[in-house]
Parts: sequence; C-alpha cells; structure tokens
Amino acid sequence: MPELPEVEVTRLGIQPHLEGRKVTAMKVIDGRLRWPVPNRLAKTLPGQKVLSIARRGKYLLLEMELGYLLLHLGMTGTLRVLPSSDPLKIHDRVTFEFGKMSLRLHDPRKFGAVLWHPKSAGPIEQNPLLLKLGVEPFSSEFSGELGAAVLYQHSRGRSVAVKQFLLAGQAVVGVGNIYCSESLFEAGIHPAKAAGKLTRPQCSRLATSVRMILKKAIEAGGSSLKDFVNSEGDPGHFMMQTKVYDRKDQPCKVCKLPIKQIVQGQRSTYFCSQCQKR
Ligand SMILES: [Zn+2]
Repeated sequence: MPELPEVEVTRLGIQPHLEGRKVTAMKVIDGRLRWPVPNRLAKTLPGQKVLSIARRGKYLLLEMELGYLLLHLGMTGTLRVLPSSDPLKIHDRVTFEFGKMSLRLHDPRKFGAVLWHPKSAGPIEQNPLLLKLGVEPFSSEFSGELGAAVLYQHSRGRSVAVKQFLLAGQAVVGVGNIYCSESLFEAGIHPAKAAGKLTRPQCSRLATSVRMILKKAIEAGGSSLKDFVNSEGDPGHFMMQTKVYDRKDQPCKVCKLPIKQIVQGQRSTYFCSQCQKR
C-alpha cells in the first residue's frame, strides 16, 4: 500500500510535468473507485490550469483555478505521465489529458479516489477528508520540540500501544506500518508500551525519529522518479533499508540479538527486545 513517502515521491515525480499546464480533457474509464468519481468533473476540469501540486497526508492536492483535485492512491494506485498516444492499459481508471500528454491513474483494486473541492466551498483544509488528519511530519508544527509536544499531548490518557497510536495518524500523519517499526526502534521505545506512559524525553526522541525515518524513505524513492514518465517500471514503489522491519530472527544491527515479530491490530511489528524498552 502506498504510504506517505510513496505519495510524496509521486508528487515530486509528476509535479515538474504538470504544474502550469492546462487540462484539455478528462476521461473516466471506470469511476467506481473508493468513492464514485464525480460525473461533472469531466466538464469542470478542461480549460483549468494546474497551479500547484501539494500533499496532505496521503492525499495529493492539485490546485486548479476553480478548486482542488484530490487524488488518493488507495491500496494499489499509481500515477504516471505518458504521451497521450500511448494506449490505455488494463486497470487504468481515469486519464487527465494535457494536450499531447496524459496523467493516468492506474488502480487494480480500485480503493483510490478522484474528488473535487471547489474553492467556493471554502479552504481546502476544511475538507472533511483532511480536517481530522494529524499534523504533517515536515511542517513547522512538528519541528523540533513542537513535535515532541504534539506526541506528548495527544498520547495523554491513552492506554493503546504506542505502535497503534502512531499508526492511527491522529497526532502525526504518515507513520505507516514499516515506518512505525523503524521509528520506534530508532527511538528505543517498545512498540507495546502504552502511549499514555510515554515520557517527555521519549516523545522528543520519537518525533526526531519519525522525521528522520520518513526523510530517509523519501530519499530512497528518489531513484524511482524516472519511472513516472516511463510506461514500464513501477512508479512510486521502492523500499528503504530497514533495521527491524521484515527482519525477524536476523541479528539486531546494534546489539546482535535476534529481531522479534509480534502482531498488533492484525499488522506485524518488528522490534529488538534489548534496544527497545517499555
Ligand atoms: Zn538490539
């Protein structure tokens, strides 16, 4: 499933090709995505220019002249910029035409989304899908000690395990399953520790680790940027070098003890029982 780093790499991959370009047509091949693609969109979009491409959580926000196009990759979605003469492929769901170039959403499992937020409906931050998201890991609200404060305040009184607290994304967005295990390892925190018992110094180490791990993941995706304009390859898919994730029974890179795997909320967590304390 595309996580925040993959979505950010997708943003970086498509942005240089689309910003400042005008949509000439939009075709919905199969609009039965997570939510139906709005019928009127194919009439609304043509003639509008892409002013900027931003990201909020795992949503890509293409600011157009009259509103925002919200794109989500769901479980299996990818976006690619191709010559519009390239034939459509099976599982291509929506294509946005920019003259001789198209942006295509390919989504085998159809959990992605293509939605519209008109500027007349108010600021994009007020969109119900974005309103309850935690803070952005690279925003000023999560930088330095502010990040520690966000984690500390949101976790007070919570008995849920810190792994699930992070994964829920209500404090800070983007810490998906892989990045949860890696961030907790870097911070030396046991994944089953109750979130409410995190100390202030632990919150500080965790905030630093989250930023560092996500930054490394985005950098790891840099090598896949060329795939966004290539009909082969797998744009936005890459794997960072992990220290604990998917390394069950392999020696910890710090203390050499075998890495453990547990299941929390039906998702695997990997950790080192010596380096990570409750
Ligand atoms: Zn260890």
